[in-house]
Formats: sequence, structure tokens, C-alpha cells
Amino acid sequence: MANNEDLLKKIIAHAKEYGFVFQSSEIYDGLSAVYDYAQNGSELKKNIRDYWWKSMVQMHENIVGIDTAIFMHPSIWKASGHVDAFNDPMIDNKDSKKRYRADVLIEDHLAKIEGKIDKEVAKAAKRFGDSFDEKQFKETNPRVLANLEKINGIKNRLYPAMDNNDMDAIKTLIEDVGIVCPMSGSKNWTEVRQFNLMFSTKMGSTAEGANEIFLRPETAQGIFVNYLNVQKTGRMKIPFGIAQTGKAFRNEIVARQFIFRMREFEQMEMQFFVRPGEEMKWYEYWKEQRMEWHKSLGIPAEKFRFHDHDKLAHYANAAADIEFDFPMGFKELEGIHSRTDFDLSAHEEHSGKKLRYHDPELNQSYVPYVVETSIGLDRMFLAILSNSYTEEDLGEGNSRVVMKLPPVLAPYKIAVFPLTKKDGLPDKAREIMDKLKSDYMCFYEEKDAIGKRYRRHDAIGTPYCVTVDHQTLEDNTVTIRERDSMVQERISIDDISGVVRERLVG
Ligand code: ATP
Repeated sequence: MANNEDLLKKIIAHAKEYGFVFQSSEIYDGLSAVYDYAQNGSELKKNIRDYWWKSMVQMHENIVGIDTAIFMHPSIWKASGHVDAFNDPMIDNKDSKKRYRADVLIEDHLAKIEGKIDKEVAKAAKRFGDSFDEKQFKETNPRVLANLEKINGIKNRLYPAMDNNDMDAIKTLIEDVGIVCPMSGSKNWTEVRQFNLMFSTKMGSTAEGANEIFLRPETAQGIFVNYLNVQKTGRMKIPFGIAQTGKAFRNEIVARQFIFRMREFEQMEMQFFVRPGEEMKWYEYWKEQRMEWHKSLGIPAEKFRFHDHDKLAHYANAAADIEFDFPMGFKELEGIHSRTDFDLSAHEEHSGKKLRYHDPELNQSYVPYVVETSIGLDRMFLAILSNSYTEEDLGEGNSRVVMKLPPVLAPYKIAVFPLTKKDGLPDKAREIMDKLKSDYMCFYEEKDAIGKRYRRHDAIGTPYCVTVDHQTLEDNTVTIRERDSMVQERISIDDISGVVRERLVG
């Protein structure tokens, strides 16, 4: 654990030092859980977005992309259930003045008890060696049984209390279990209150006449309310999808872990409209497709896993997360949800407008069912950074930090260096740069020794460095150095583009 926490700290420091991510409003001491993407970060973020868009929209003839407004009619959030149900229970500790999500405090407490059981099992496994039967041990050991009973007792009170919005019951549970504030160690808690995660603002020129509107907490609703417009104008036939990327806002009670949980973030969502009754087939299809997408970036398969939901949101009949092994452990990166006809039916009801599809094959009209894939762009960014950050010992006291980014996502694809600032080498290097820069993001640098320049580009993940030397002036060849292997090859200037392209496509 300590090592992984160290890794997150190192990634945060590296992201700042090398121009990936800055704390928002840093010169005013920052704004909590809001971040700015810097010169390299915004390129990486854009490349992730483009990679997603290309695979979802360009590669699927039956998926189109849209870009809807952040502000929407307030009734949309009533219909979608967000006004009434997009809440988290919060509680404050009066001594530390720290705020917590009440359900997370209880979940953390449960995790501690589970940890005790795991320790008990590990101890016994050591004692009994090969003859150890874990299942039997768990079913008979009195200490394990007592802890399991505690866990079930707590869950049997927590889940109904959450379902019934019974804040008093949650408070009583926290008191009965004896949960203390991790900061102050005290049990001096406030009441538990429901906290709606939507940000609101006023629209209109005068405060009196103003209408409260919300900053969207998900991009999906912009797709739902435009479903019929897109279907008609695009002459889309079911099954078809609508994709969109864009900002979403949630007033998270506890926001931490860098860009994992932000108050302003970006989503990449796709709603796939299907015939009622066929949703489970498409749900399974998109689960698999999305997992393949992640693996296509060359990230090892063992870094991902599915987590199927037992407890479903009010709109879903099946849901799974794709979890990634972040430095903080396995956590949700993407959700795949079978949302039934919940949203479209709710919008029919609240708007009074029909949102039906006439299926020419069945000669029937119906409200389509929806399977959604929803991924956080910032979380994907953190997943990519965590997977790519590598410290390498090069022997003889040398080391390097290299960002082994998937080349297709790297902010710069090629760095061009003249070996020295003399003898016309910069002019030649500039010529190469001009040739390549309309096809690739290229970086030109002539300052410092070549080794130092290589290290700087290792640190931002540039897959290729091209060096122009005296031989270049004679035979039009350069050395091209590959980031991960550090292998250098001599190739013709005319071949640079092809070598790089091959790697990007691969
Ligand atoms: P969590 O349980 O982590 O709060 P969620 O289940 O509420 O997430 P969804 O509503 O399914 O998340 O949103 C879809 C995706 O949007 C998530 O898988 C995640 O990648 C991203 N996301 C959600 N909330 C945030 C946030 N506060 N900051 C960054 N990304 C987020």
C-alpha cells in the first residue's frame, strides 16, 4: 500500500513538473478537486478523446456523434431523477470539522472488519500449511463467524436505510458501531443530511426573474432529449448509437485522489438504442467491446477487471464497471449500463412529447431500450499515466523516468534535434521539422547535450527522437531513437514518416 501511495504522489509530481496537469488556480492556493490540463496534458487528453471517438463513431457506421449544451431545461433533471435522487448522505465531525460521506464511513468500517477476517485466514493458512481448508475454516472459526455476523448485521441496516433515504437510521448505525473520525478520533458527529451533487446557478438577467438551472452531472441526458432529432435527421435504424464527449459537474462531498474524483470532469458516453427485449444481448456485446478497447492500447489485461453490480440504480436492469488497477487499487474506470426505457419514457411523460421509434421490420412503434457505455476521460488519463510511469535503472549509477505512453496517445510523436548548434545542422533539422509537422506533433530542440534532450522526451513520452548530425548533410540520413528500447538506427530522412506511422497504427 505504502508503495502505491508513493506511486500516486510521484505521478502527481511528475504530471506537474512535465506540464501534464496543474492544480487549478494554483497562485491562489488552488481550488479543491479542480485541475487544469497543461501543454502536454491537453495533447494527451485530446488524443485519448480522439482515440475513443474514432473507435466509437468513425469505426461504427451505426453510431453518430453530437455535442450538446451544458445548460439544459431544468425539467430534464426532474425527469431523469437527478433532482430527487442524485444524493449522497453527508456527515461532519464537530471536532475535526471534516466532512465525510456517511455511507463511505460505514463501508470503510466494513472493510476493516473484512481485513480482520483476512488476517485470521492468513494466520491459519500458515499454521496448517497444505492441509488448510479455507472454506471450512471460515465456516467454523468462532472469531471469523463473529466478524461475519457483524458485517451482515451492518449491511442489513445500511442498505435498507440507503434505499429508504432514512438519514436518522444511518446516523444511529454510525453511533451503534462506534465509528470515530479518522482525523480527530472523536465520535462527536452532526446529523446525517442528504446532499444533492448537482451544481446550480441562475439563468436570466435579474435575480428575481431568475430560473434555477443545473450544470449537467452527466452528458447522457443531452443524448436522450435529442434522440428523436438525431434518429430522424440521420435516418438512423435501430440498433444505433449516439456518442458524445463533454464536461460534467458533480459537487462531490469528498474529492481526493488527484484527477480520479473531480468536481468538474469530462465524460465520453455512448447511448445505444435497441429493441425492447434485445438489451441483454447488446449489454453483453458492449461489455466485451469496451474491454477490448482498453486492451487495444497495449495495457496488460490483468490491470482490468469487471465488477458486476448487485445493487442496481433506479434506471438499470443490469450494470457492470470496468475497473482499473490504479495506484489506489482497483477502482471504477468505466460503466456499462442497461438503462431500459427509463430515461426516454420519463422524458415522454415530463415533456408530453412522444419519443417512439417506428420499427419498419416489426411494423411496430415502441420506446427503445438503451445500453450505455460511460467512461471518465480524466480517469482514463490517470489510468494511462499510472500504467506508463516507469523508473528504469540503466546501470552504472544512471537511471531514467520514462512515460511509456501508447504511441498513438503521446503528446509529441517526434522530437527533432540538431546534434550541435553549428555547421548548418539547425537549418537541416528545421527542414526535417517542416516536412513532418503537418502530419505529426513534433518538437524542435537544440539546447543541452543530446542525452539530456533524450531524457526530457522520455519523461513526456515522445516515442521517437530524430538527431541530425554531420553525416546527415552528406547522405540525408539521421539517427532515429526509439523511446522504450533506446535503440538507435540510421535511416533516410524520407523514411522517418513511415517508421513512425507503422508504430502508431500497430
Ligand atoms: P463513482 O462511483 O466513482 O462516483 P459513478 O458510478 O457515480 O462513479 P457514473 O455516474 O457511472 O459514475 O459515471 C460514469 C463515469 O464517469 C465513471 O465511470 C467515471 O469514470 C466518471 N466519473 C464519475 N464521477 C467522476 C468524478 N467525480 N471525477 C472524475 N470522473 C468521474
